[in-house]
Amino acid sequence: MDSELTRMTAAALAAAMAAGEVSAAEVTRAHLDRIATVDARVHAFLHVAGEAALRVARSVDERRAAGEALGPLAGIPIALKDIFTTADMPTTCGSAILDGWQPPYDATITARLRRADMPILGKSNLDEFAMGSSTENSAFGTSRNPWDLDRVPGGSSGGSAAAVAAWEAPVGIGTDTGGSIRQPASVCGLVGVKPTYGGSSRYGLVAFASSLDTPGPLARTVLDAALVHEAISGHDPCDATSVDAPVPPVVAAARQADVSGLRVGVVSEFSGEGYQPGVLARFGEAVELLESLGAKVTEVSCPHFTYALPAYYLIAPSEASSNLARFDAMRYGLRVGDDGTHSAEEVMSLTRARGFGAEVKRRIMLGTYALSSGYYDAYYGKAQQVRTLIIRDFEAAFEQVDVLVSPTTPTTAFPIGERTDDPLAMYLADLCTIPSDLAGNAALSVPCGLAPEDGLPVGLQIMAPVLADDRLYRVGAAVEAALDQRRGHPLLHDAKGLGS
Ligand code: GLN
Repeated sequence: MDSELTRMTAAALAAAMAAGEVSAAEVTRAHLDRIATVDARVHAFLHVAGEAALRVARSVDERRAAGEALGPLAGIPIALKDIFTTADMPTTCGSAILDGWQPPYDATITARLRRADMPILGKSNLDEFAMGSSTENSAFGTSRNPWDLDRVPGGSSGGSAAAVAAWEAPVGIGTDTGGSIRQPASVCGLVGVKPTYGGSSRYGLVAFASSLDTPGPLARTVLDAALVHEAISGHDPCDATSVDAPVPPVVAAARQADVSGLRVGVVSEFSGEGYQPGVLARFGEAVELLESLGAKVTEVSCPHFTYALPAYYLIAPSEASSNLARFDAMRYGLRVGDDGTHSAEEVMSLTRARGFGAEVKRRIMLGTYALSSGYYDAYYGKAQQVRTLIIRDFEAAFEQVDVLVSPTTPTTAFPIGERTDDPLAMYLADLCTIPSDLAGNAALSVPCGLAPEDGLPVGLQIMAPVLADDRLYRVGAAVEAALDQRRGHPLLHDAKGLGS
């Protein structure tokens, strides 16, 4: 049985629960049933936590019945990317090296979902250690795009995106290091947000590139994303890079949905060759829409953004090569060759050879090379200088405009298998999202219609200054509302691949 409850937004579900029209247990049960019906085809989840999720939901119902005041998302189920530690569920990071590992503690994000009384439906699939743009680098199989099951759902947070787009969860959590929340959101027709770096805690988030990794929400509407953003944000003393400042008023901004007088800059570097014509057409219409809603639109050049991708592919692998050294066959998960005939070094080497996939090995080698003595200044050092130039481009741009916009990703969802043998083609999926990761500022992807060539979703990326996350929601909600009035919310179409 497929319930209408799975078609509702988190905000609508919360209102229905508060009004006593539906119980939290019914809401969680409906999503677990939907997972049971479609996840064999979508493969969004690596682990489903049926009974534990229902227990949380039942306790919400009991406490509501007892008159307890509950938070705005109490009883809203959520999909959690399998890169956050969970004391009651395995955490694999999509890697064979962590297969079967059970963490001893909850990540701060996990703990905040529990504090918000949100039932965690399970752990969602991802590219191994979040390295990739399609989930094809998962050691446990590819997730599929609910709009077309032969296409990728994006990545690395593709499992959370596929779950939300396939009505298996109303909202999800991803992480963004180079675009891993916004790109899957874009190709699955969802809203995805990378908060300001440090705005959401990395404690218990298995590290890929520590100076970039940022947890954030995936949702079907801008308001739902804002509600999750607020629930997971705020200072965390367990993360040294956590920002100790008030959380930007993202929920209020999503409700404000107003762009009149706002200065919007179109990044001139992000268009032209390599972009799918239908993506540029929908992006152009979104810009015209913003103008018709009262925004002042200008073109802004950010000349160093074209160097962001190569700089990222030195900085992120450098940090990864160091972070992944902890998987040494001694402390976590897999251990190969521990039969008394091999030295500790051999066990380490055999385990890493078997446990890591090809892309992870490629990054470890690239990063180790970029950090090696004699090459450090030429590669890692140079990339850090480029990073500074990108930060300056943003600073100069934000003197002229309040937000910047671009397409989120150059193409719609690509076919499974199309880019697996061509790492550079895969890397290009993050061309437009990487600058905000390198600079640490906030950015959001909101659906802006379907590409005429293939009928697949296109995303509009909005970028705001550091700690001005609320601006993203003001603009995103205005675009969403205007599109809603014009042609029906693009997200609330039934996903083609799965039918209704
Ligand atoms: N696709 C990019 C990469 O492979 C970004 C990944 C991410 O944001 N985690 O590194």
